[in-house]
Formats: sequence, structure tokens, C-alpha cells
Amino acid sequence: MSDQFTPAEQHADAPLRLFNSLTRTVEPFAPIDPGHARVYSCGPTVYNYAHLGNLRAYVFTDTLRRTLLWKGLDVTHIINITDVGHLTSDADAGDDKMEAAARAQAKSIWDIAAHYTDAFKRNIADLNILPPSEWTVATDYVPQMIEFAKKIAPAHCYELDTGLYFDSSTVPDYGALAGGRDDAAHARIDPVAGKRNPSDFAIWRKSPPGEQRQMEWDSPWGKGAPGWHLECSVMSEARLGHPFDIHTGGIDHREIHHPNEIAQNQAYCGCTDAQPGFTGARWWMHNNFLVDRQGKMSKSKGGFTTLFSLIDAGVHPLAYRLLCLGAHYRSELEFSADSVGAALTRLKRLIMGVEGLKARAEGVTWQSPRLDYLRANLHPKLAPLLEQFDAAISDDLMTPRALPLLEETIAIKKVPVDEKLCLIAAFDQALGLNLMHLTRADLRLTPRDAQIRPEEVEAELDRRQAARAEKNFALSDEIRDALIERGVDVMDGDPMRWEWRLKLG
Ligand code: AMP
Ligand code: ZN
Repeated sequence: MSDQFTPAEQHADAPLRLFNSLTRTVEPFAPIDPGHARVYSCGPTVYNYAHLGNLRAYVFTDTLRRTLLWKGLDVTHIINITDVGHLTSDADAGDDKMEAAARAQAKSIWDIAAHYTDAFKRNIADLNILPPSEWTVATDYVPQMIEFAKKIAPAHCYELDTGLYFDSSTVPDYGALAGGRDDAAHARIDPVAGKRNPSDFAIWRKSPPGEQRQMEWDSPWGKGAPGWHLECSVMSEARLGHPFDIHTGGIDHREIHHPNEIAQNQAYCGCTDAQPGFTGARWWMHNNFLVDRQGKMSKSKGGFTTLFSLIDAGVHPLAYRLLCLGAHYRSELEFSADSVGAALTRLKRLIMGVEGLKARAEGVTWQSPRLDYLRANLHPKLAPLLEQFDAAISDDLMTPRALPLLEETIAIKKVPVDEKLCLIAAFDQALGLNLMHLTRADLRLTPRDAQIRPEEVEAELDRRQAARAEKNFALSDEIRDALIERGVDVMDGDPMRWEWRLKLG
């Protein structure tokens, strides 16, 4: 039997409730089209590698997507690729991030975009994030952006030497998503000369006279490039139609990017009076930041940690996914060598548990995680675990509450092993940890600069165990100290002797 979802046949119990940034409350979720949810996620700006903080945003959207599937819904999910228009400041100041990166690396923007888009997609695959139904690339939509801008310009925009600007006072409740208009905050960010209100923003940025940009298009407002906020309004409308169900992004987008998208959407539909609550999407959802000791992780600060650097350090990428799932998406999450190391240990224990069950279940069919079937047939000791798991993820994606239920399922005694495996496989469809297929060996990534190979560590630990058996503690300590010296952390007291790892950071 397949381990894929069969949405139409599932009947999950707990009602799905999601936090809506518009109302700042957890609300019962129902899609506009029964049985089918439409989701748009602001995608990466491909001028550099995604850092781990960016990737937290996509682990979050994947958890959302998998939960919608778990609840039996069909999902159309769009992620865009921003390859033009995102300036170094989220307001209209600074350079285009893509132009700046191309200049710094002496490459064409198109090469920069292709390289970092490809790297981003590799990160997505390594994190077992389901690919979106469609990737929309901003530069493919410039004609539609011009049409969109032409429609909203007469009633909502004004032209300056630098471009076409959106007058934020022409829509009701501008900035409501951010908790209200904050002109003082906007004014602090490099004001553009001539703007009517500090929170007005560029719809179209004209190329400066005498300067040719690598990426520029003709428009009724002269040669130039679209504003970043315009892209998402246009691509979400083009692919999903307004209003769609859920728009996601990191919490930084709640302040400027998403309020600006909302203002454009309101202007475009012309329905500000007829539909007072119209924003373009019913739910706006935001993940909180991944932080490190220096504060919010960000690309522009430099020194960020990428998934590639984590893999080079010997950490399996799904350990990072597990780290993310261990915190609720609306809480800040601290990243450190220790926190990701602990997640790797937790993942190892999960994999070992599942491997042990699979060994006991040899020859038994266990991959049949259809929820309706499970619900009807599950052992009485397992049924409450399924119910609690469903309740946890249905409660605004409470993965920190769901994970211990997975661990409990692995550990529970006196239950048919095939039923346990079915339930674990079902849980993992929502969690995406690839638990049914990963092996212990897959988790042993050798760090790029390792001074010692895993086989050698194992051989040394065998020698150490023999020394201890002979009560030769001096030799045992000597072996441990030598391992530490070579960058191996040995965790004593683990009966399975699995607990060693190469030191990180
Ligand atoms: P960007 O490539 O800068 O457009 O960002 C891609 C996504 O990552 C956006 O949804 C951001 O809001 C999100 N993001 C940026 N920094 C962080 C962070 N430190 N933690 C979590 N999400 C972030
Ligand atoms: Zn966006």
C-alpha cells in the first residue's frame, strides 16, 4: 500500500485552527473552496544562499501544507522566486539586492539568480520540504505587473522622478496587519524625496537617467524595474486568484511587505467599500525568527549559517528540520551548535527506534497509513495517541506537542509492531522527517574538515569498551581524551554506545 496521502478519504477529528495575523487570534480554518486550500508563500530573494533563518520559513510552510493534507484537503501551494526588485532596505531605499550581488561577483544577474535558485531548491529537497505546486519567478511576470500597475495608478499612485509610488492614504486601514500605520518608523528608513506619506512605496522604479540596469523593462513610466511588493500581489492573483486562503512569510514581512501587498490588492480589486475586510487572502500567517547569539540571523549581516555549512560540519539536514519542529513556529528559536547537536541526537534515537521496529516487523506489511483505516482498526493503546497527535497539529501546528507523541508511539509496549509502524508512518507524513526510509548510516555525515573517520571512532570505542571490561580505566580515559583531542564528543553512559558526535562550531 502507498504511504502517500489519499486526501479525499481521510476524516480527521479535531477542527483545524490557525493563528491569523490579521486578527491576532487563533481561528477555525475552512478553505474558500471546500476541500481545496490555496496557499502563497513569499519566496527567497536569490542574491545569496538562503541562511538557516530563511529556511525556517519554508519548514513552517511545509508543516502547514502537510497539516492541510493531513486534514484531507487538496493544496495548491505557490512559492515565488524574487529575482528582481528587492532593495537592500524593505522600504524604498538602497540598491537592488540582485544588481548589487551581480556587481560584487562580476556576473550577470541571470547567472546569479540561476545559481542561488538552484542552491535554494537543493536546500528544500534536503529538508524534505514538498516542492510547491509551482515556483513562480518574478521576472516571468513583468508584463502582468505593468498591467496591474496601470490599473491601480489613476486612483492610487503618483509619479516622481525616481518612479511610480503608491499613496498609502488612498486605502482604508493601511498597515492594519502590522498593528496600524507607523509613519514614524517608516520615516526613520531613508525617506525618498517627494513622497506624500512616509509609508508610500514604489510600484515601479525608474532607471536613473544615463544609467543602464542589467534588468530593466519599458513601461508607461519609463524604463525601469518593478517594486518588490508588486511582485507578490501580481503572482498570487495570477496563480491563485484573490481572495485565496493563506499567505505566509517571516514575521518581518508583517511590518512592511505584507501591508503593502494588502494595499495593492485592495486597490486592484477596487472593492475597498464593497468588501471592507478584503486583503487578498483570508489568512496571513508568519513564522517567528531563528536567532543566534548575535540576534536575528540575516543574510545582509554576513557570517550566516547555511544548510550547506551545516552539512559540511557533519549535521544531517533533517536534524535542522527536527530542531525547527521542536519549537512552535510563532516562537523565536535559538540556533547554536548545541541546539542542533541535541536535535541530531534526538533524530538518531527516532531512527534507531524505527529501525528496531522494522527489524521486528520483517515480512509484515506496515505501510498503510490511511487515517480512516487507522482510526477504525488501531489497537486501543495506540488510538489515543493518534487522537492527541491530530489535536496537537490541528491546534495551530503545535509540533512541539506532537513530537513526544511520536516518541511515545515508538516506545509503547505490548502493541502489534505493524500497527505501531503504520501509525509512525502516518505521523511522519505530517512531520516530514523521512523516518521510514532513513537509516542510522545515512545520519553519519563526515564533516568536511574531520580529522577522524567514523569507522576509526567506532574502532577506538570498541578498544575503549574492551579496556573498561578489563577494568583498565587508565587506558579507557586515555582513549577518550585522545578522541576529544581529535574533535569527538563522547557521551558516556549510553548503553547502545551510539552517543558520540563530532564537535560542532
Ligand atoms: P528573503 O530571501 O530575504 O526574501 O527571505 C525569505 C524568507 O525568510 C522570508 O519569509 C523572510 O521573512 C524569512 N526570514 C528572514 N530572516 C529570517 C529569520 N532569521 N528567521 C526566520 N525567518 C526569516
Ligand atoms: Zn512577498
